[in-house]
Amino acid sequence: MDTEEFRRFGHELIDWIADYFDHIDDLPVLAAIEPGDLKAQLPPAPPLHGEPMEQIVSDLDRLIVPALTHWSHPSFFAYFATSTSGPGILGELLTAAFDNKAMLWRTSPASTELEEVTLDWLRQMMGLDPGLTGIIYDTASVSSMHAIAAAREGVEQRIREDGMSGRPDLPLLRIYISEQAHSSIEKGVITLGLGQRALRKIPTDAEFRMDVRALAAAIEEDKRAGYLPFCVVATVGTTSTSSIDPVREIVPLCEEHALWLHVDAAYAGSAAIVPEFRPILAGCDRADSLVTNPHKWLFTPFDLSVLYCRHMDLLKRAFSLVPEYLKTPEQEKVRSGSDYGIQLGRRFRALKLWMVIRYFGHEGLAARIREHVRLANLFASWVESAADWELMAAHPLALVCFRSHPSGFAENDLDALNEAIMHGVNASGRALLSHTKLNDKLTLRLSIGNIRTTEAHVRAVWDLLNEQLRRKQ
Ligand code: PLP
Repeated sequence: MDTEEFRRFGHELIDWIADYFDHIDDLPVLAAIEPGDLKAQLPPAPPLHGEPMEQIVSDLDRLIVPALTHWSHPSFFAYFATSTSGPGILGELLTAAFDNKAMLWRTSPASTELEEVTLDWLRQMMGLDPGLTGIIYDTASVSSMHAIAAAREGVEQRIREDGMSGRPDLPLLRIYISEQAHSSIEKGVITLGLGQRALRKIPTDAEFRMDVRALAAAIEEDKRAGYLPFCVVATVGTTSTSSIDPVREIVPLCEEHALWLHVDAAYAGSAAIVPEFRPILAGCDRADSLVTNPHKWLFTPFDLSVLYCRHMDLLKRAFSLVPEYLKTPEQEKVRSGSDYGIQLGRRFRALKLWMVIRYFGHEGLAARIREHVRLANLFASWVESAADWELMAAHPLALVCFRSHPSGFAENDLDALNEAIMHGVNASGRALLSHTKLNDKLTLRLSIGNIRTTEAHVRAVWDLLNEQLRRKQ
């Protein structure tokens, strides 16, 4: 593709994206296709000869768009609703053009240094302790896995050198999470070879927060049994309800038993850039590590997760391995990303975050998050004052857990009713919701996090929910 053709189709595709956003409200949020529909329309073998760009671009509308679930749709309220933004998309475009592999400082000085500076900006915006240094990974799952690896390196049991299998000298290492923690922590534990047996799930209180007394008792019990407790993962903003573990009370326990405290703030961390929400991170100034995902609630395109870590030396000890062909004269003076993780090459992700922060500014980003929380509170107030609906959990941020509970319906029938309402809303294509189970009760979740979501969209999904309820009654 010569630059002339690149310029022509580049302009055309930017226009295409702008039109997509201008008309996204008219598209069904959930892909209205059946499994296999797209595959059936694609040739099973690759093209032998190149095809004209016109044809490829026209297939975007014909094949790809109908098979998309539109995460960028302002009525996407499922999971954690997240969205990209204009400056983020342009940053991603440049990253693809530069195509840097930021494995060493010299292979991408811009990526390495921009990452360090941008993550320090974000640290300041969140009010995090200056002792925490940031590093970018793709997802929170991977960030947390790296944090646990660093914590494990800190137990000084020669695990890097000798591994964990076939070692009668190695006690069972223990890591603690709440029953509401994200499954990514368990996957990290499995990946690191610690085994699911290493993971102890601590019960939660009535508001789905880790029970600190139960945590203290579990640590004591494990020590008496000869196990080696080494890490606690607290969650600020759990996936089901956005509940916030009492980190301030967990800190002294970790200090008493010399345990690494990792905080999973993948979703909620962004909210801390809003001054009045900063208390959600109370106690986190003493954490050993914390993960937050700008790709969740900071208008940065997927993927970009940030791990803040107080012990970069341990992270480096866990992962650094520099063969001859990667040695450079400046290596002692600079940071090389590949020393801090499993990947060698790393994408230039900091660029899009730098552009997002510069374009919106701290105040602009905070204003959007504040508005999302206002909209969630408004929705919750409608639920609370409606006779046929009830809230199922506290809503500290922009996630509301609720269900329909009309009089005359037995508790046993409510799961089926709410599931039917959710499927009805989702099948309409006009909004997308997801669910969880709280105290074994099917609960609907409405998450607000899209940069284009307005009060009118929230009002519309509330009307849709009520319309569905009337049909099921
Ligand atoms: N932690 C929490 C609290 C989450 O809610 C999620 C995803 O929703 C994750 C971790 C995993 O995020 P990622 O997709 O970036 O791995």
